[in-house]
Amino acid sequence: MAQFKNKLILLFSFCSMFFIAQNKLNTNNQSDHANTVQNPKSKNVASANTQSVYLSSIRHDTCLNKKFSIVVYVFENYSMTIASSSLNVINNTYIPQKINYLNNLFKRICVSFEHCRTVVIPNWEYEKWKNATVDDVVYANFSTENTINLYLVSTTNYSKCQLDYSYKPDEPSSANPKNMVVSILDAPPGADLAHAFGHFFGLDHTHAEINGTPASPPPPIQSSGLAINSNEFVDGSNCALYGDGLCDTEADPYPANTSYNRNHVMCDYNGGVKDGKGDFYTPPLDNFMSFYTCRCRFTQQQYNKMAETIITKRMYLH
Ligand SMILES: [Zn+2]
Repeated sequence: MAQFKNKLILLFSFCSMFFIAQNKLNTNNQSDHANTVQNPKSKNVASANTQSVYLSSIRHDTCLNKKFSIVVYVFENYSMTIASSSLNVINNTYIPQKINYLNNLFKRICVSFEHCRTVVIPNWEYEKWKNATVDDVVYANFSTENTINLYLVSTTNYSKCQLDYSYKPDEPSSANPKNMVVSILDAPPGADLAHAFGHFFGLDHTHAEINGTPASPPPPIQSSGLAINSNEFVDGSNCALYGDGLCDTEADPYPANTSYNRNHVMCDYNGGVKDGKGDFYTPPLDNFMSFYTCRCRFTQQQYNKMAETIITKRMYLH
């Protein structure tokens, strides 16, 4: 009961902040010039939808006090066995490593994870995650309702991302969400796992394009043949409406020239690609939701967006 009450209070607080953020915008549209100068990327927020208003208005982390249960699935190997010693390592090393990593990553918004149990799936063919059909079949036959289902596989030839992946709350539909995350069993937890949970809590890729209408001017055609997907400008002037819709993730030209120096301490971009206005990109090479390999963080607005998604779309999970 106390927990339920806490959630109600939390939800009320969250809604209040949202309401205050909206009101502030409605009354201060004309007088926010100072903010605009200090933070050029916020200047288009006034014309954005209410979600963008909320995301950019909250400058601190929202504490959700929410714990998610994770049911882990592993697969028998080709000899139709899984040695007890292997299961021991999985349960006592690999899974705790992943859970600890996630708990550290999400403690900023007071979200934590708990390993409930491990299910061994008796079908060795699924151990190598081959295609989208495997994804559908395994989820349909081996999943637990209202929990996060984490499938640990030895390899995958199918991923919506690079390695680990998941589905956003409305995929394939809001009425029938797929509460699943696929991750490499023995990979040290890191950016790939963070990326997958970013999607699970509603984040898009930094190079995504959420707007159905091209920006003006649109990204230039690339001689490489690889088009720039995002229509977000480098100067941030349309950041709330284009790209991933977040204003503290830099415009990302992926998959156009992705040349950058991975070994340099700054992991600097040297792709030399320009946006529709002729400005050179400085992509978010360090962002978990990018496809670059210097990934180490979420931004403030990404945490805000995940907090909002959890409150509005993931609270049914135990
Ligand atoms: Zn992805």
